[in-house]
Amino acid sequence: MSNKPTQPDVMENLSSLLKRRGFIFQGSEIYGGLAGTWDYGPLGVALKNNIKTLWWKRFVDDRDDMYGMDAAILMNQNVWKASGHVGGFADPLVECAKCKRRFRADQLEATLRDKKECPECGGKLGEERQFNMMFQTNVGATQDESSVSYLRPETAQGMFVNFKNVLDTMHPKLPFGMAQIGKAFRNEISPRDFIFRTREFEQMEIEYFVDPANWEETFNHFVKEVHAYTQDVGLPQDKVHEHEIAPGDLAHYSKRTIDFEFDYPFGKTELYGLAYRTDFDLKAHSTASGTDLSYYDEEKKVRFVPHCIEPSFGVDRTVLAVLTSAYTQDELGGEKREYLKLSPAVAPIKVAVFPLLKNKDALTAKAKELHQVLRKEFAKNGSTVEYDTTGSIGKRYRKQDEIGTPFCVTVDFATIEKDGSPVTVRDRDTGAQESVKLDDLVSYLAQKLGR
Ligand code: ATP
Repeated sequence: MSNKPTQPDVMENLSSLLKRRGFIFQGSEIYGGLAGTWDYGPLGVALKNNIKTLWWKRFVDDRDDMYGMDAAILMNQNVWKASGHVGGFADPLVECAKCKRRFRADQLEATLRDKKECPECGGKLGEERQFNMMFQTNVGATQDESSVSYLRPETAQGMFVNFKNVLDTMHPKLPFGMAQIGKAFRNEISPRDFIFRTREFEQMEIEYFVDPANWEETFNHFVKEVHAYTQDVGLPQDKVHEHEIAPGDLAHYSKRTIDFEFDYPFGKTELYGLAYRTDFDLKAHSTASGTDLSYYDEEKKVRFVPHCIEPSFGVDRTVLAVLTSAYTQDELGGEKREYLKLSPAVAPIKVAVFPLLKNKDALTAKAKELHQVLRKEFAKNGSTVEYDTTGSIGKRYRKQDEIGTPFCVTVDFATIEKDGSPVTVRDRDTGAQESVKLDDLVSYLAQKLGR
């Protein structure tokens, strides 16, 4: 019997499962935490690595027109002046005169915003002012204006400033793209909803350069590719929505933007963005740095500044979409259970192997041997195959269900009787157990895991 918990409960139940099972911890927890930061534990980092690997595979490895990058987080302050971040990367902030709490004005309920009333204590809210979200720091031992730098608020600029380097070293022909995965930092006024809005997060971004005559075709191509990626990580397609940004609401550099939204338990909100940024960035860096960032089209014999299409993906928002849609409560064998119905493509542990009893040498030896075979076969890209002997077999199944392991393999007395005997394979979602001959096990699991 499926029993979907009410939406606010999902976040509470899920975050406590994720903590208990080593996925995600509060940042700096033993010191009381640090708002807007979260730490990924052993299973969390495995899940995250799978999500990033699938992205890199689809957008870089499987294409001939994409160039990977890993640019420095700290950049010359002039990058952020030219990009417009120093002048304009700000959210509207209001402060309560009574309790001194600060809020993002555009996220306040309309009536409270109009009445200038604090949502926490009812006090009077002050005037709105623009709050720049970049974390400022100083590079080197001198603390003056010339040493100012910022933790990057997006990975995109690291690609624009390397456009010429890639052009000169790889000699790509248009259209081509640059892709990067890395940390970004924003001093969000109100971090919220677990890992949805944090102050330190990870992005997967592409800057794809085109002849402006072809921007629409490329834009439509990436709309499809974004959807395809949400399928790669196993997101339910009926929860992914496109939200076309109205022309009047577009950022000054954008001619078209689609936000891809997801039905999170706390509401439908932005998962990814896709923007047509025109030639704004390359032109801005060209002017500010004095470096020519144009492209020469040998066929047409013309020189121009390419236009850019930018699909931008948040790693942590993907992790949260994957986890919230995988979180399930049901009843199995008369007992309530909660588990993660993760797609095998992202599950941190693909298969778990157990001996039926832990104190029978013949069973443990066979199970360990099998563990090594399956590990060679299925432990790739951050995922692993686990060997477990703790507690009863029932407890082991429940633990694996909770962490989203699609299959458990149990070695029992029948397995060790003679060569070619069966093991028991248990399916996480149904709890059904099937007897599979040892010789067929690898191909059986490969097929079930969709490889
Ligand atoms: P929002 O409107 O939610 O603040 P944004 O439109 O400012 O997001 P972008 O600047 O387009 O976001 O950043 C690209 C992607 O980076 C977003 O689609 C999201 O997946 C991710 N992202 C942005 N800000 C955060 C954050 N504070 N925490 C986690 N992920 C973020």
